[in-house]
Amino acid sequence: MGKRTLGIHHITAIVGDPQENVDFYAGVLGLRLVKKTINFDDPGTYHLYFGDDGGNPGTIMTFFPWPGAHQGRIGAGQVGTTAFAVPNGSMSFWEERLETFGVSYRVEERFGERSVTFTDTHGLQLALVERYEGKASEWSFNGVSPAEAIKGFAGAVLLTSQPEKTSELLEETMGFERVGEEGGYVRFRSKADIGNTVDVWQQAVARGALGVGTVHHIAYRANDDDDQLDWKQHVESAGYHVTPVQPRQYFNAIYFREHGEILFEIATDPPGFAHDESYETMGEALKLPDWYEPQRAKIEQILQPATVREIEKL
Ligand code: ZN
Repeated sequence: MGKRTLGIHHITAIVGDPQENVDFYAGVLGLRLVKKTINFDDPGTYHLYFGDDGGNPGTIMTFFPWPGAHQGRIGAGQVGTTAFAVPNGSMSFWEERLETFGVSYRVEERFGERSVTFTDTHGLQLALVERYEGKASEWSFNGVSPAEAIKGFAGAVLLTSQPEKTSELLEETMGFERVGEEGGYVRFRSKADIGNTVDVWQQAVARGALGVGTVHHIAYRANDDDDQLDWKQHVESAGYHVTPVQPRQYFNAIYFREHGEILFEIATDPPGFAHDESYETMGEALKLPDWYEPQRAKIEQILQPATVREIEKL
């Protein structure tokens, strides 16, 4: 009883062309590509992980690039908007930067915070929010320095077919604290200093369709393998069907679908992204799990190149 999540571990989305994905998240947003690997269930496609300099839990946005796949539809059963935290006082830098790259944005205010919202190249809805809390990312790239760099997730907006059930799950089972309600959103917060807010849109919206430009799932944090097994039991006792533990190389994962149809994951903080590459070289090489190494040549031939590069425009 009484388990409390630290908040968001990672968020995984489906996008189109992998180079366009890298150009947006590394080139424009200045995130570090912390791991370049493949989708273990579909080895002819990438799984790209972006985060702060260390790829810390609460900072990791991951992508399945499916070039040429159909466009999805954002709606119930998904994360509607993914918000990143930027340092206090850096928002004018970011507004100017988005303009420079031709990314149009609009400004919103909620829960006393000003947020700049925009979409990525493939239609994902994103936001930047100034946050005092959260460790600075030590990553510098293409004009973004630690003074402005994205620190990790500010939070996520959940679109659900059953807002009350989803809210109940977050508060009573996941252990988030309900901290406010404004403009049709209810905000939940964890005690972590990054990835710590989840907003639930209170209206039932039309069901989303998975595809390019939509979020596939949202993962919350478990301290370690034992804590994850506790979570599995805890969530099962609340009536959810939870998968067995899946090894994901950089964390272990369990999954369940909540009543509002959003796919939730609980992922372990360890071992993290520096476990098969050094901190200095993380993200540079294509990493394959041992069981795919014999097929490396073939896999590399199938994958389109996707390189972190300095860009001046999209
Ligand atoms: Zn995941």
